[in-house]
Amino acid sequence: MDSYRHKGLRKALVSSLRPKGIYNEAVLDAMMKVPRHLFLDKAFEEWAYKDQAFPIREGQTISQPFTVAFQTQLLEPEKSEKVLEIGTGSGYQACILYHLFKKVYTIERLKTLFDSTQKLLKGDGYKGAPRFAPFDKILVTAGASSIPKTLLEQLKIGGYLVVPVGQGDDKEMLRIKKTGEESYEKESFGIFRFVPFKKGTVD
Ligand code: SAH
Repeated sequence: MDSYRHKGLRKALVSSLRPKGIYNEAVLDAMMKVPRHLFLDKAFEEWAYKDQAFPIREGQTISQPFTVAFQTQLLEPEKSEKVLEIGTGSGYQACILYHLFKKVYTIERLKTLFDSTQKLLKGDGYKGAPRFAPFDKILVTAGASSIPKTLLEQLKIGGYLVVPVGQGDDKEMLRIKKTGEESYEKESFGIFRFVPFKKGTVD
Protein backbone atom coordinates (compact mmCIF):
# COMPACT_ATOMS: atom_id res chain seq x y z
CA MET A 1 0.00 0.00 0.00
CA ASP A 2 1.05 3.56 -0.67
CA SER A 3 0.39 5.94 2.27
CA TYR A 4 0.79 9.68 2.92
CA ARG A 5 3.92 8.82 4.87
CA HIS A 6 5.38 7.01 1.86
CA LYS A 7 4.46 9.89 -0.42
CA GLY A 8 6.14 12.36 1.94
CA LEU A 9 9.33 10.29 2.05
CA ARG A 10 9.26 9.96 -1.73
CA LYS A 11 8.85 13.69 -2.20
CA ALA A 12 11.90 14.33 -0.02
CA LEU A 13 13.89 11.78 -2.01
CA VAL A 14 12.85 13.27 -5.34
CA SER A 15 13.75 16.80 -4.16
CA SER A 16 17.19 15.54 -3.12
CA LEU A 17 17.82 14.36 -6.70
CA ARG A 18 17.67 17.88 -8.23
CA PRO A 19 20.86 19.22 -6.61
CA LYS A 20 22.57 15.99 -7.71
CA GLY A 21 21.89 16.87 -11.35
CA ILE A 22 18.48 15.46 -12.23
CA TYR A 23 16.67 18.26 -14.09
CA ASN A 24 14.30 16.38 -16.42
CA GLU A 25 10.84 17.14 -14.99
CA ALA A 26 9.21 14.12 -16.60
CA VAL A 27 11.83 11.86 -14.99
CA LEU A 28 11.31 13.51 -11.58
CA ASP A 29 7.52 13.11 -12.00
CA ALA A 30 7.92 9.42 -12.78
CA MET A 31 10.16 8.97 -9.70
CA MET A 32 7.39 10.64 -7.67
CA LYS A 33 4.73 8.33 -9.12
CA VAL A 34 6.36 4.94 -8.55
CA PRO A 35 6.18 3.64 -4.94
CA ARG A 36 9.71 2.23 -4.54
CA HIS A 37 8.86 0.57 -1.21
CA LEU A 38 6.64 -1.92 -3.08
CA PHE A 39 9.78 -3.29 -4.78
CA LEU A 40 11.52 -4.19 -1.52
CA ASP A 41 10.56 -6.84 1.03
CA LYS A 42 8.25 -5.35 3.64
CA ALA A 43 10.90 -5.75 6.35
CA PHE A 44 13.15 -3.31 4.48
CA GLU A 45 10.55 -0.64 3.71
CA GLU A 46 12.53 1.81 5.85
CA TRP A 47 15.27 1.77 3.23
CA ALA A 48 13.09 2.37 0.22
CA TYR A 49 13.36 6.15 0.26
CA LYS A 50 17.03 6.50 1.05
CA ASP A 51 19.19 7.28 -1.94
CA GLN A 52 20.93 3.92 -1.80
CA ALA A 53 21.09 0.68 -3.75
CA PHE A 54 19.59 -2.21 -1.81
CA PRO A 55 19.99 -6.00 -2.01
CA ILE A 56 17.07 -7.93 -3.49
CA ARG A 57 17.00 -11.67 -4.07
CA GLU A 58 19.72 -13.77 -5.70
CA GLY A 59 22.52 -11.38 -4.73
CA GLN A 60 21.17 -8.71 -7.10
CA THR A 61 20.32 -5.12 -6.26
CA ILE A 62 17.62 -2.56 -6.85
CA SER A 63 19.65 0.35 -8.24
CA GLN A 64 20.18 3.54 -6.26
CA PRO A 65 17.37 6.04 -7.01
CA PHE A 66 19.92 8.59 -8.25
CA THR A 67 21.33 6.03 -10.69
CA VAL A 68 17.85 5.10 -11.93
CA ALA A 69 17.02 8.78 -12.47
CA PHE A 70 20.42 9.50 -14.06
CA GLN A 71 20.30 6.62 -16.54
CA THR A 72 16.69 7.46 -17.38
CA GLN A 73 17.56 11.12 -17.97
CA LEU A 74 20.41 10.08 -20.30
CA LEU A 75 17.85 8.24 -22.42
CA GLU A 76 16.01 11.53 -23.10
CA PRO A 77 12.67 9.70 -23.05
CA GLU A 78 9.92 10.62 -25.51
CA LYS A 79 6.33 9.46 -25.07
CA SER A 80 6.25 8.11 -28.64
CA GLU A 81 9.25 5.79 -28.20
CA LYS A 82 9.96 2.12 -27.60
CA VAL A 83 12.60 1.19 -25.02
CA LEU A 84 14.40 -2.03 -24.06
CA GLU A 85 15.80 -2.48 -20.54
CA ILE A 86 18.39 -5.18 -19.80
CA GLY A 87 18.32 -6.46 -16.19
CA THR A 88 14.76 -6.31 -14.83
CA GLY A 89 15.85 -7.07 -11.24
CA SER A 90 13.10 -5.80 -8.95
CA GLY A 91 11.13 -4.24 -11.83
CA TYR A 92 11.48 -0.75 -10.33
CA GLN A 93 13.39 0.81 -13.22
CA ALA A 94 10.96 -0.80 -15.68
CA CYS A 95 8.05 0.94 -13.92
CA ILE A 96 9.80 4.29 -14.15
CA LEU A 97 10.30 3.68 -17.90
CA TYR A 98 6.65 2.70 -18.24
CA HIS A 99 5.64 6.24 -17.23
CA LEU A 100 7.93 7.83 -19.82
CA PHE A 101 7.78 5.64 -22.93
CA LYS A 102 5.05 4.27 -25.15
CA LYS A 103 6.37 0.70 -24.99
CA VAL A 104 8.73 -0.95 -22.49
CA TYR A 105 10.47 -4.31 -22.94
CA THR A 106 12.70 -5.68 -20.19
CA ILE A 107 14.90 -8.80 -20.04
CA GLU A 108 16.10 -10.79 -17.00
CA ARG A 109 18.42 -13.82 -16.93
CA LEU A 110 17.47 -15.15 -13.46
CA LYS A 111 14.30 -17.20 -13.47
CA THR A 112 13.32 -16.43 -9.84
CA LEU A 113 13.39 -12.69 -10.49
CA PHE A 114 11.68 -13.16 -13.82
CA ASP A 115 8.88 -15.20 -12.16
CA SER A 116 8.25 -12.50 -9.57
CA THR A 117 7.80 -9.77 -12.16
CA GLN A 118 5.80 -11.69 -14.82
CA LYS A 119 4.87 -10.65 -18.34
CA LEU A 120 8.49 -9.66 -18.85
CA LEU A 121 11.00 -11.32 -21.10
CA LYS A 122 13.24 -14.08 -19.79
CA GLY A 123 16.45 -14.33 -21.71
CA ASP A 124 20.05 -13.30 -22.12
CA GLY A 125 20.27 -9.54 -22.40
CA TYR A 126 23.43 -9.88 -24.49
CA LYS A 127 21.16 -11.13 -27.26
CA GLY A 128 18.69 -8.28 -26.82
CA ALA A 129 15.16 -8.81 -28.11
CA PRO A 130 15.48 -9.21 -31.91
CA ARG A 131 11.77 -10.04 -32.26
CA PHE A 132 10.84 -6.57 -31.00
CA ALA A 133 13.75 -4.60 -32.47
CA PRO A 134 14.60 -1.94 -33.51
CA PHE A 135 14.37 0.18 -30.36
CA ASP A 136 14.58 3.95 -29.94
CA LYS A 137 16.47 3.54 -26.69
CA ILE A 138 18.18 0.66 -24.86
CA LEU A 139 19.17 0.79 -21.18
CA VAL A 140 21.53 -1.71 -19.54
CA THR A 141 21.20 -1.79 -15.73
CA ALA A 142 24.07 -4.23 -15.08
CA GLY A 143 27.78 -3.49 -15.45
CA ALA A 144 29.24 -4.70 -18.77
CA SER A 145 32.92 -5.41 -19.46
CA SER A 146 32.64 -4.18 -23.06
CA ILE A 147 30.04 -2.50 -25.27
CA PRO A 148 27.44 -5.14 -26.22
CA LYS A 149 27.51 -5.05 -30.05
CA THR A 150 24.27 -6.97 -30.53
CA LEU A 151 22.40 -4.26 -28.65
CA LEU A 152 23.82 -1.56 -30.93
CA GLU A 153 22.48 -3.51 -33.90
CA GLN A 154 19.00 -3.44 -32.36
CA LEU A 155 18.91 0.36 -32.15
CA LYS A 156 17.17 2.65 -34.61
CA ILE A 157 19.36 5.24 -36.29
CA GLY A 158 19.31 8.26 -33.98
CA GLY A 159 18.71 5.95 -31.00
CA TYR A 160 20.71 5.70 -27.76
CA LEU A 161 22.27 2.84 -25.83
CA VAL A 162 22.98 3.75 -22.19
CA VAL A 163 25.35 1.21 -20.64
CA PRO A 164 27.87 1.15 -17.78
CA VAL A 165 31.14 -0.32 -19.16
CA GLY A 166 34.51 -1.19 -17.64
CA GLN A 167 36.98 -3.99 -16.92
CA GLY A 168 37.00 -3.62 -13.10
CA ASP A 169 34.30 -2.75 -10.53
CA ASP A 170 34.19 0.89 -11.62
CA LYS A 171 32.06 1.27 -14.71
CA GLU A 172 31.98 4.29 -16.98
CA MET A 173 28.45 5.41 -17.80
CA LEU A 174 28.35 5.55 -21.59
CA ARG A 175 25.71 6.91 -23.91
CA ILE A 176 26.21 5.70 -27.45
CA LYS A 177 24.24 7.34 -30.22
CA LYS A 178 23.69 5.41 -33.43
CA THR A 179 24.33 7.98 -36.15
CA GLY A 180 24.21 5.63 -39.17
CA GLU A 181 24.07 1.87 -39.98
CA GLU A 182 27.70 1.47 -38.88
CA SER A 183 28.51 4.75 -37.15
CA TYR A 184 28.25 5.74 -33.52
CA GLU A 185 29.06 8.64 -31.20
CA LYS A 186 30.12 7.94 -27.62
CA GLU A 187 29.75 10.22 -24.60
CA SER A 188 30.87 9.48 -21.05
CA PHE A 189 29.04 10.46 -17.84
CA GLY A 190 31.17 9.41 -14.88
CA ILE A 191 31.82 6.33 -12.78
CA PHE A 192 29.16 4.04 -11.28
CA ARG A 193 29.00 0.61 -9.64
CA PHE A 194 26.68 -2.16 -10.82
CA VAL A 195 26.17 -5.88 -10.38
CA PRO A 196 27.76 -7.70 -13.34
CA PHE A 197 26.18 -8.16 -16.76
CA LYS A 198 26.54 -11.93 -17.20
CA LYS A 199 26.13 -14.14 -20.25
CA GLY A 200 23.46 -16.84 -20.47
CA THR A 201 20.28 -17.52 -18.48
CA VAL A 202 19.81 -19.24 -15.09
CA ASP A 203 16.83 -21.44 -14.15
N1 SAH B 1 16.91 -2.50 -13.09
C1 SAH B 1 16.89 -3.23 -11.84
C2 SAH B 1 18.27 -3.36 -11.20
C3 SAH B 1 18.90 -4.52 -11.78
S1 SAH B 1 20.37 -5.19 -11.11
C4 SAH B 1 15.94 -2.62 -10.83
O1 SAH B 1 15.37 -1.57 -11.10
O2 SAH B 1 15.74 -3.23 -9.78
C5 SAH B 1 20.91 -5.96 -12.63
C6 SAH B 1 20.08 -7.11 -13.11
O3 SAH B 1 20.63 -7.52 -14.37
C7 SAH B 1 20.10 -8.34 -12.21
O4 SAH B 1 18.79 -8.71 -11.86
C8 SAH B 1 20.80 -9.41 -13.08
O5 SAH B 1 20.32 -10.73 -12.87
C9 SAH B 1 20.47 -8.91 -14.48
N2 SAH B 1 21.36 -9.39 -15.55
C10 SAH B 1 22.71 -9.57 -15.53
N3 SAH B 1 23.15 -10.05 -16.73
C11 SAH B 1 22.05 -10.17 -17.54
C12 SAH B 1 21.84 -10.62 -18.88
N4 SAH B 1 22.84 -11.08 -19.66
N5 SAH B 1 20.58 -10.60 -19.37
C13 SAH B 1 19.55 -10.17 -18.62
N6 SAH B 1 19.67 -9.75 -17.35
C14 SAH B 1 20.91 -9.74 -16.80
